[in-house]
Amino acid sequence: MTRYVENVQLFLKDIAEGYSLLIPRERAEGWFFEPYEDEEVKLEGYPNTISSPKEYLFPQTETLYQFHSGEEGLEYENRIPRQTPRVVFGVRPCDSAGVTRLDQVFLEDSRDPYYAVRRENTLIIGLVCPGAVAPNCFCTEVGLSPAGSDGMDLRATELEKGLLIEEVSDRGAALFDSPSLKNSKSWREATEEEAAEAKRVQEKAIQEMASERDLADVELEFEHPIWAQEAEYCIGCGICSFLCPTCHCFTIEHSGSKNKGKAIRTWDTCQFQDYSLEASGFNPRPDRLQRLKQRLYHKFKYFNDRYGMLLCIGCGRCVSACPVNIDIRKILAAFERKKSVTS
Ligand code: SF4
Ligand code: SF4
Repeated sequence: MTRYVENVQLFLKDIAEGYSLLIPRERAEGWFFEPYEDEEVKLEGYPNTISSPKEYLFPQTETLYQFHSGEEGLEYENRIPRQTPRVVFGVRPCDSAGVTRLDQVFLEDSRDPYYAVRRENTLIIGLVCPGAVAPNCFCTEVGLSPAGSDGMDLRATELEKGLLIEEVSDRGAALFDSPSLKNSKSWREATEEEAAEAKRVQEKAIQEMASERDLADVELEFEHPIWAQEAEYCIGCGICSFLCPTCHCFTIEHSGSKNKGKAIRTWDTCQFQDYSLEASGFNPRPDRLQRLKQRLYHKFKYFNDRYGMLLCIGCGRCVSACPVNIDIRKILAAFERKKSVTS
């Protein structure tokens, strides 16, 4: 069923009765997903969040297990999180597609129990973009759409007075059977006119962002002057990876003593010098040039070769946040130009 939410505030309040709810909230530094606090949720001027929903599925740091010496040697206690059912409201289509990439790594390839428990208890209500919402959006260049539904459970489109909500997954549909929403006055079945209005909003956004560039077609070259030109400025801060909704590398460190301690997982990035440092002291990627190359090869070749999807969803966060203005689109353009000259 397609639904029309006339009273968005009541709708969110009703969700919060049965789920923990995350909403986009504006702060001085920008927008962030934060816990709902029985408040008026404002979506006016909502671009996208500074950090993506990734941090709620795969936190920047977490304890994996604790250990201590017992009577029969070391004893381990797993710290699988306890996650209550949760809804994330207002996830942009690029970011929900980013969750699909994380699912591929943490659920499909092998099952990471820490990620799995959070993901299985998280329902995503996506929000269609009215067009490019941030200065560096390029979802349509990586095969996605401002009206896409990849990774969502429900897709919401803002109409003049309310939200049109389409079911994407069974879990999304089941949300409306939950006790607080089943008989809620916040929604009703959408009329054909409302569904048509939503279609128009979606099509307008798609037209506005239409692009002939297809970055899945770019053929990277290992030896090309652009790598050195751009890498010269990189300071290896790693913010491009940490804000990226799809970057998922981590490191595990142990703290404590040999008798008692814990294993802590934290985000890591191929942009850090010691990321690829081996125990022997050898580093296969000793300089910035190789590290920058690795990041783009992983996103635009290796992941695509392996899973049939790019590891970039075109959110533009890395472009906006890079302190030295490195723009991955500029690097990729160097290969596009070469391709058109030689073809
Ligand atoms: S944000 Fe820019 S400077 Fe920092 S590691 Fe990434 S590319 Fe390098
Ligand atoms: S590489 Fe940059 S544009 Fe692509 S998903 Fe990551 S942060 Fe977004």
